[in-house]
Amino acid sequence: MWYNKTKQARGARKEADEMKTLYEVMDGSGKDEERLKKAGGILKAGGLVAFPTETVYGLGGDALNPASSRKIYAAKGRPSDNPLIVHICRFSDLERIAWDPDHRAAAVAKAFWPGPLTMILKKKDVIPPETTGGLDTVAVRFPSHPVAQRLIDAAGGFVAAPSANTSGRPSPTSARYVAEDMDGKIDMILDGGDVGIGLESTIVDLTEKEPMILRPGYVTQEMLEEVLGSVSTDRTILDASSDVRPRAPGMKYRHYAPQGDLAIVEGEPDKVVRRINELCAEAAGQGKKTGVIATDETVRLYHADCVRSVGSRLDEAAIAHSLYRILREFDDEGTQVMYSEAFSDRGMGQAIMNRLLKAAGHHVIPV
Ligand code: AMP
Ligand code: MG
Repeated sequence: MWYNKTKQARGARKEADEMKTLYEVMDGSGKDEERLKKAGGILKAGGLVAFPTETVYGLGGDALNPASSRKIYAAKGRPSDNPLIVHICRFSDLERIAWDPDHRAAAVAKAFWPGPLTMILKKKDVIPPETTGGLDTVAVRFPSHPVAQRLIDAAGGFVAAPSANTSGRPSPTSARYVAEDMDGKIDMILDGGDVGIGLESTIVDLTEKEPMILRPGYVTQEMLEEVLGSVSTDRTILDASSDVRPRAPGMKYRHYAPQGDLAIVEGEPDKVVRRINELCAEAAGQGKKTGVIATDETVRLYHADCVRSVGSRLDEAAIAHSLYRILREFDDEGTQVMYSEAFSDRGMGQAIMNRLLKAAGHHVIPV
Protein backbone atom coordinates (compact mmCIF):
# COMPACT_ATOMS: atom_id res chain seq x y z
CA MET A 1 0.00 0.00 0.00
CA TRP A 2 2.87 2.35 0.85
CA TYR A 3 4.12 1.66 -2.65
CA ASN A 4 0.96 3.05 -4.25
CA LYS A 5 1.08 6.04 -1.96
CA THR A 6 4.64 6.77 -3.09
CA LYS A 7 3.56 6.46 -6.69
CA GLN A 8 0.60 8.77 -6.24
CA ALA A 9 2.76 11.38 -4.54
CA ARG A 10 5.14 11.32 -7.45
CA GLY A 11 2.44 11.05 -10.08
CA ALA A 12 2.20 14.77 -10.79
CA ARG A 13 5.86 15.13 -11.67
CA LYS A 14 6.22 12.14 -13.93
CA GLU A 15 9.28 12.65 -16.05
CA ALA A 16 9.34 11.95 -19.77
CA ASP A 17 12.02 9.27 -19.41
CA GLU A 18 10.37 7.56 -16.44
CA MET A 19 10.20 3.78 -16.80
CA LYS A 20 8.03 1.13 -15.22
CA THR A 21 9.82 -0.42 -12.26
CA LEU A 22 8.96 -4.08 -11.71
CA TYR A 23 8.53 -4.96 -8.06
CA GLU A 24 9.17 -8.56 -7.01
CA VAL A 25 8.92 -9.93 -3.48
CA MET A 26 11.26 -12.83 -2.71
CA ASP A 27 8.88 -15.05 -0.71
CA GLY A 28 10.97 -18.18 -0.28
CA SER A 29 8.75 -20.15 -2.69
CA GLY A 30 9.81 -22.03 -5.80
CA LYS A 31 9.02 -18.90 -7.81
CA ASP A 32 12.09 -17.11 -6.42
CA GLU A 33 14.29 -18.91 -8.93
CA GLU A 34 12.25 -17.44 -11.78
CA ARG A 35 12.44 -13.97 -10.23
CA LEU A 36 16.21 -14.20 -9.95
CA LYS A 37 16.51 -15.42 -13.52
CA LYS A 38 14.48 -12.46 -14.72
CA ALA A 39 16.55 -10.03 -12.62
CA GLY A 40 19.80 -11.60 -13.85
CA GLY A 41 18.58 -11.24 -17.44
CA ILE A 42 17.86 -7.54 -16.87
CA LEU A 43 21.39 -7.00 -15.51
CA LYS A 44 22.99 -8.94 -18.38
CA ALA A 45 21.06 -6.77 -20.84
CA GLY A 46 22.43 -3.57 -19.26
CA GLY A 47 19.47 -2.76 -16.97
CA LEU A 48 19.40 -1.90 -13.26
CA VAL A 49 18.04 -4.03 -10.39
CA ALA A 50 17.94 -3.07 -6.70
CA PHE A 51 18.53 -5.98 -4.33
CA PRO A 52 19.03 -6.72 -0.63
CA THR A 53 22.44 -7.30 0.90
CA GLU A 54 23.33 -7.87 4.56
CA THR A 55 24.41 -4.20 4.89
CA VAL A 56 21.93 -2.03 2.93
CA TYR A 57 20.02 -2.38 -0.36
CA GLY A 58 22.24 -2.11 -3.43
CA LEU A 59 21.49 -0.66 -6.87
CA GLY A 60 23.00 -3.21 -9.24
CA GLY A 61 24.26 -2.99 -12.80
CA ASP A 62 26.70 -5.13 -14.80
CA ALA A 63 30.13 -3.99 -13.52
CA LEU A 64 31.80 -4.91 -16.82
CA ASN A 65 29.41 -2.77 -18.88
CA PRO A 66 30.26 0.97 -18.97
CA ALA A 67 26.70 1.84 -20.04
CA SER A 68 25.28 0.13 -16.93
CA SER A 69 27.59 2.09 -14.65
CA ARG A 70 26.57 5.35 -16.32
CA LYS A 71 22.92 4.43 -15.71
CA ILE A 72 23.63 3.85 -12.01
CA TYR A 73 25.11 7.33 -11.64
CA ALA A 74 22.12 8.83 -13.46
CA ALA A 75 19.49 6.98 -11.39
CA LYS A 76 21.12 8.01 -8.11
CA GLY A 77 22.13 11.51 -9.18
CA ARG A 78 25.60 10.46 -7.98
CA PRO A 79 28.70 12.53 -8.86
CA SER A 80 30.64 10.56 -11.48
CA ASP A 81 33.92 10.76 -9.54
CA ASN A 82 32.42 8.64 -6.76
CA PRO A 83 33.34 5.03 -7.65
CA LEU A 84 31.09 1.97 -7.32
CA ILE A 85 31.70 -1.22 -5.36
CA VAL A 86 31.91 -4.39 -7.49
CA HIS A 87 30.08 -7.33 -5.92
CA ILE A 88 31.17 -10.90 -6.59
CA CYS A 89 29.81 -14.29 -5.50
CA ARG A 90 32.89 -16.56 -5.72
CA PHE A 91 36.31 -16.21 -4.09
CA SER A 92 37.99 -17.19 -7.36
CA ASP A 93 36.42 -14.22 -9.19
CA LEU A 94 38.51 -11.74 -7.19
CA GLU A 95 41.61 -12.41 -9.26
CA ARG A 96 39.71 -11.89 -12.50
CA ILE A 97 39.19 -8.21 -11.70
CA ALA A 98 41.93 -7.16 -9.23
CA TRP A 99 45.63 -7.67 -8.42
CA ASP A 100 46.69 -9.22 -5.13
CA PRO A 101 50.50 -9.23 -5.38
CA ASP A 102 51.16 -9.84 -1.68
CA HIS A 103 48.20 -12.18 -0.97
CA ARG A 104 46.82 -9.83 1.66
CA ALA A 105 43.49 -9.67 -0.18
CA ALA A 106 43.25 -13.47 -0.14
CA ALA A 107 43.86 -13.49 3.62
CA VAL A 108 41.25 -10.79 4.24
CA ALA A 109 38.78 -12.59 1.97
CA LYS A 110 39.30 -15.83 3.87
CA ALA A 111 38.64 -14.08 7.19
CA PHE A 112 35.68 -11.84 6.31
CA TRP A 113 34.03 -13.02 3.08
CA PRO A 114 31.28 -13.51 2.37
CA GLY A 115 30.45 -10.48 4.52
CA PRO A 116 30.34 -6.71 5.10
CA LEU A 117 33.91 -5.93 4.03
CA THR A 118 35.05 -4.10 0.89
CA MET A 119 38.67 -4.12 -0.32
CA ILE A 120 40.33 -1.52 -2.53
CA LEU A 121 42.85 -3.12 -4.91
CA LYS A 122 44.59 -2.27 -8.20
CA LYS A 123 42.10 -3.08 -10.94
CA LYS A 124 42.52 -5.28 -13.98
CA ASP A 125 41.54 -4.01 -17.44
CA VAL A 126 38.19 -5.87 -17.58
CA ILE A 127 36.76 -3.31 -15.15
CA PRO A 128 35.92 -0.18 -17.16
CA PRO A 129 36.86 3.26 -15.80
CA GLU A 130 33.15 4.16 -15.72
CA THR A 131 32.72 1.70 -12.83
CA THR A 132 35.65 3.08 -10.80
CA GLY A 133 35.09 6.81 -11.29
CA GLY A 134 38.18 6.87 -13.49
CA LEU A 135 40.47 5.39 -10.81
CA ASP A 136 42.97 2.58 -11.50
CA THR A 137 41.78 0.85 -8.33
CA VAL A 138 38.59 -1.11 -7.74
CA ALA A 139 36.45 -1.72 -4.66
CA VAL A 140 35.39 -5.38 -4.32
CA ARG A 141 32.98 -7.13 -1.96
CA PHE A 142 31.51 -10.63 -1.66
CA PRO A 143 28.21 -10.18 0.21
CA SER A 144 26.76 -12.89 2.44
CA HIS A 145 23.06 -12.27 1.69
CA PRO A 146 21.75 -15.28 -0.24
CA VAL A 147 19.55 -13.19 -2.55
CA ALA A 148 22.55 -10.98 -3.41
CA GLN A 149 24.73 -14.01 -4.10
CA ARG A 150 22.15 -15.70 -6.31
CA LEU A 151 21.48 -12.49 -8.23
CA ILE A 152 25.18 -11.81 -8.85
CA ASP A 153 25.54 -15.36 -10.13
CA ALA A 154 22.51 -14.98 -12.41
CA ALA A 155 23.97 -11.72 -13.73
CA GLY A 156 27.27 -13.27 -14.79
CA GLY A 157 29.33 -12.73 -11.64
CA PHE A 158 30.21 -9.01 -11.44
CA VAL A 159 27.62 -6.53 -10.19
CA ALA A 160 28.48 -2.87 -9.53
CA ALA A 161 26.22 -1.72 -6.73
CA PRO A 162 26.23 1.44 -4.66
CA SER A 163 23.55 1.89 -2.03
CA ALA A 164 20.11 2.10 -3.67
CA ASN A 165 19.24 5.61 -2.47
CA THR A 166 19.16 8.97 -4.20
CA SER A 167 22.62 10.46 -3.69
CA GLY A 168 22.81 12.26 -0.34
CA ARG A 169 19.83 10.49 1.31
CA PRO A 170 20.12 7.81 3.99
CA SER A 171 20.88 4.38 2.52
CA PRO A 172 17.79 2.14 2.24
CA THR A 173 17.42 -0.60 4.83
CA SER A 174 14.20 -1.99 3.35
CA ALA A 175 12.68 -2.24 -0.13
CA ARG A 176 10.03 0.40 0.61
CA TYR A 177 12.78 3.00 0.96
CA VAL A 178 14.34 1.85 -2.30
CA ALA A 179 10.96 2.38 -4.00
CA GLU A 180 10.68 5.84 -2.44
CA ASP A 181 13.90 6.90 -4.20
CA MET A 182 14.09 4.67 -7.29
CA ASP A 183 10.56 3.97 -8.50
CA GLY A 184 10.36 4.94 -12.19
CA LYS A 185 14.14 5.15 -12.52
CA ILE A 186 15.28 1.52 -12.56
CA ASP A 187 14.04 -1.73 -14.10
CA MET A 188 13.36 -3.84 -11.02
CA ILE A 189 13.32 -3.94 -7.23
CA LEU A 190 13.84 -7.31 -5.54
CA ASP A 191 12.26 -7.12 -2.09
CA GLY A 192 14.08 -9.47 0.30
CA GLY A 193 12.79 -7.91 3.52
CA ASP A 194 14.67 -5.74 6.00
CA VAL A 195 18.47 -5.87 5.91
CA GLY A 196 20.44 -7.21 8.88
CA ILE A 197 23.26 -4.77 9.59
CA GLY A 198 21.85 -1.46 8.40
CA LEU A 199 25.13 0.40 7.76
CA GLU A 200 27.35 0.11 4.68
CA SER A 201 30.37 -2.21 4.53
CA THR A 202 33.75 -1.41 6.05
CA ILE A 203 36.14 -0.27 3.29
CA VAL A 204 39.83 -1.16 3.63
CA ASP A 205 42.43 0.08 1.16
CA LEU A 206 45.07 -2.56 0.40
CA THR A 207 46.88 -0.66 -2.35
CA GLU A 208 49.46 0.86 0.02
CA LYS A 209 51.96 -0.83 2.34
CA GLU A 210 49.95 0.09 5.43
CA PRO A 211 46.29 -0.98 5.09
CA MET A 212 43.90 1.89 5.78
CA ILE A 213 40.20 1.92 6.68
CA LEU A 214 38.49 4.46 4.42
CA ARG A 215 35.00 3.88 5.83
CA PRO A 216 34.27 2.24 9.23
CA GLY A 217 31.63 -0.50 9.39
CA TYR A 218 30.66 -3.76 11.04
CA VAL A 219 34.16 -5.19 10.53
CA THR A 220 36.26 -3.10 12.93
CA GLN A 221 39.91 -2.01 12.88
CA GLU A 222 40.67 -4.52 15.66
CA MET A 223 39.19 -7.36 13.60
CA LEU A 224 41.26 -6.38 10.54
CA GLU A 225 44.43 -6.05 12.61
CA GLU A 226 44.14 -9.69 13.60
CA VAL A 227 44.63 -10.60 9.96
CA LEU A 228 46.77 -7.75 8.61
CA GLY A 229 48.83 -6.55 11.55
CA SER A 230 48.86 -2.77 11.86
CA VAL A 231 45.88 -1.02 10.20
CA SER A 232 45.19 2.71 10.29
CA THR A 233 41.95 4.66 9.83
CA ASP A 234 41.63 7.64 7.48
CA ARG A 235 41.28 10.41 10.09
CA THR A 236 39.53 12.75 7.66
CA ILE A 237 36.35 10.69 7.98
CA LEU A 238 35.82 11.48 11.65
CA ASP A 239 37.37 14.92 11.80
CA ALA A 240 35.34 17.87 10.51
CA SER A 241 38.14 20.41 10.68
CA SER A 242 40.48 18.50 8.37
CA ASP A 243 41.17 20.13 5.00
CA VAL A 244 42.61 16.90 3.68
CA ARG A 245 40.42 14.99 1.22
CA PRO A 246 39.22 11.57 2.35
CA ARG A 247 40.82 8.75 0.34
CA ALA A 248 37.45 7.24 -0.52
CA PRO A 249 36.12 9.85 -2.98
CA GLY A 250 32.53 9.34 -1.84
CA MET A 251 33.28 10.24 1.75
CA LYS A 252 33.73 13.92 0.94
CA TYR A 253 30.07 14.31 -0.06
CA ARG A 254 27.26 15.10 2.34
CA HIS A 255 25.55 11.81 2.91
CA TYR A 256 22.81 9.99 4.73
CA ALA A 257 21.23 13.35 5.41
CA PRO A 258 17.65 13.94 6.52
CA GLN A 259 15.85 16.89 4.90
CA GLY A 260 15.79 18.98 8.11
CA ASP A 261 18.78 20.27 10.10
CA LEU A 262 20.45 17.71 12.33
CA ALA A 263 22.98 18.44 15.09
CA ILE A 264 24.71 16.08 17.52
CA VAL A 265 24.83 17.09 21.19
CA GLU A 266 27.83 15.60 22.96
CA GLY A 267 28.74 15.51 26.66
CA GLU A 268 27.61 14.08 29.99
CA PRO A 269 24.27 12.27 29.61
CA ASP A 270 22.30 14.54 32.03
CA LYS A 271 23.58 17.69 30.41
CA VAL A 272 22.87 16.35 26.93
CA VAL A 273 19.21 15.70 27.80
CA ARG A 274 18.83 19.15 29.35
CA ARG A 275 20.49 20.93 26.41
CA ILE A 276 18.51 19.04 23.77
CA ASN A 277 15.26 19.91 25.57
CA GLU A 278 16.29 23.58 25.68
CA LEU A 279 17.22 23.60 21.99
CA CYS A 280 13.94 21.90 21.06
CA ALA A 281 11.96 24.44 23.10
CA GLU A 282 13.78 27.27 21.30
CA ALA A 283 13.08 25.76 17.88
CA ALA A 284 9.43 25.09 18.79
CA GLY A 285 9.17 28.75 19.83
CA GLN A 286 10.17 29.64 16.28
CA GLY A 287 7.37 27.45 14.98
CA LYS A 288 9.67 24.61 13.86
CA LYS A 289 8.79 20.94 14.03
CA THR A 290 11.37 19.23 16.28
CA GLY A 291 12.82 15.73 16.54
CA VAL A 292 15.18 13.88 18.87
CA ILE A 293 17.26 10.77 18.24
CA ALA A 294 17.29 9.25 21.72
CA THR A 295 18.22 5.86 23.15
CA ASP A 296 16.10 3.35 25.11
CA GLU A 297 17.79 4.71 28.24
CA THR A 298 16.72 8.33 27.62
CA VAL A 299 13.69 8.28 25.33
CA ARG A 300 11.22 9.20 28.08
CA LEU A 301 13.20 12.28 29.14
CA TYR A 302 12.71 14.37 25.99
CA HIS A 303 10.04 16.86 24.93
CA ALA A 304 9.83 17.28 21.16
CA ASP A 305 7.31 16.71 18.37
CA CYS A 306 8.97 13.47 17.38
CA VAL A 307 11.16 11.53 19.84
CA ARG A 308 12.58 8.24 18.56
CA SER A 309 14.80 5.71 20.27
CA VAL A 310 17.50 4.32 18.00
CA GLY A 311 17.96 1.39 20.43
CA SER A 312 19.75 0.61 23.65
CA ARG A 313 23.26 1.90 24.29
CA LEU A 314 24.07 -1.67 25.35
CA ASP A 315 23.37 -2.95 21.83
CA GLU A 316 25.33 -1.10 19.13
CA ALA A 317 24.24 -3.55 16.45
CA ALA A 318 20.61 -2.57 17.11
CA ILE A 319 21.52 1.13 16.86
CA ALA A 320 23.29 0.56 13.52
CA HIS A 321 20.24 -1.36 12.32
CA SER A 322 17.77 1.47 13.12
CA LEU A 323 19.69 4.66 12.34
CA TYR A 324 18.82 5.13 8.65
CA ARG A 325 15.21 4.10 9.17
CA ILE A 326 14.84 6.76 11.84
CA LEU A 327 16.45 9.44 9.68
CA ARG A 328 13.96 8.62 6.93
CA GLU A 329 11.05 8.61 9.40
CA PHE A 330 11.93 12.16 10.40
CA ASP A 331 11.64 13.10 6.73
CA ASP A 332 8.22 11.42 6.57
CA GLU A 333 7.14 13.43 9.62
CA GLY A 334 8.42 16.67 8.09
CA THR A 335 10.71 17.32 11.07
CA GLN A 336 12.66 20.54 10.52
CA VAL A 337 15.14 20.61 13.40
CA MET A 338 16.65 17.47 14.92
CA TYR A 339 19.08 16.71 17.71
CA SER A 340 20.85 13.43 18.38
CA GLU A 341 22.80 12.06 21.28
CA ALA A 342 26.40 11.10 20.46
CA PHE A 343 27.85 7.59 20.54
CA SER A 344 31.21 6.14 21.53
CA ASP A 345 33.72 6.12 18.69
CA ARG A 346 35.00 2.61 19.41
CA GLY A 347 34.14 -0.66 17.65
CA MET A 348 30.78 -0.47 15.85
CA GLY A 349 30.26 2.90 17.53
CA GLN A 350 32.83 4.36 15.17
CA ALA A 351 30.73 3.40 12.15
CA ILE A 352 27.59 4.79 13.81
CA MET A 353 29.27 8.11 14.69
CA ASN A 354 30.80 8.36 11.21
CA ARG A 355 27.35 8.13 9.56
CA LEU A 356 25.74 10.41 12.14
CA LEU A 357 28.47 13.06 11.73
CA LYS A 358 27.97 13.00 7.97
CA ALA A 359 24.20 13.17 8.31
CA ALA A 360 24.68 16.20 10.56
CA GLY A 361 27.20 17.85 8.23
CA HIS A 362 29.63 17.58 11.21
CA HIS A 363 27.48 19.92 13.31
CA VAL A 364 28.39 18.95 16.90
CA ILE A 365 27.27 20.93 19.97
CA PRO A 366 29.42 20.21 23.05
CA VAL A 367 27.85 20.64 26.50
P1 AMP B 1 28.38 3.11 -1.73
O1 AMP B 1 28.48 2.12 -2.84
O2 AMP B 1 27.28 4.08 -1.90
O3 AMP B 1 28.42 2.40 -0.43
O4 AMP B 1 29.74 3.93 -1.81
C1 AMP B 1 30.93 3.28 -2.11
C2 AMP B 1 32.05 3.93 -1.36
O5 AMP B 1 33.26 3.26 -1.74
C3 AMP B 1 32.24 5.40 -1.68
O6 AMP B 1 32.53 6.15 -0.51
C4 AMP B 1 33.43 5.35 -2.64
O7 AMP B 1 34.14 6.54 -2.65
C5 AMP B 1 34.24 4.17 -2.11
N1 AMP B 1 35.07 3.59 -3.16
C6 AMP B 1 34.64 2.83 -4.20
N2 AMP B 1 35.68 2.52 -5.01
C7 AMP B 1 36.79 3.09 -4.47
C8 AMP B 1 38.16 3.14 -4.85
N3 AMP B 1 38.59 2.53 -5.95
N4 AMP B 1 39.01 3.82 -4.06
C9 AMP B 1 38.57 4.42 -2.92
N5 AMP B 1 37.28 4.42 -2.53
C10 AMP B 1 36.39 3.77 -3.28
MG1 MG C 1 25.94 5.15 -0.58
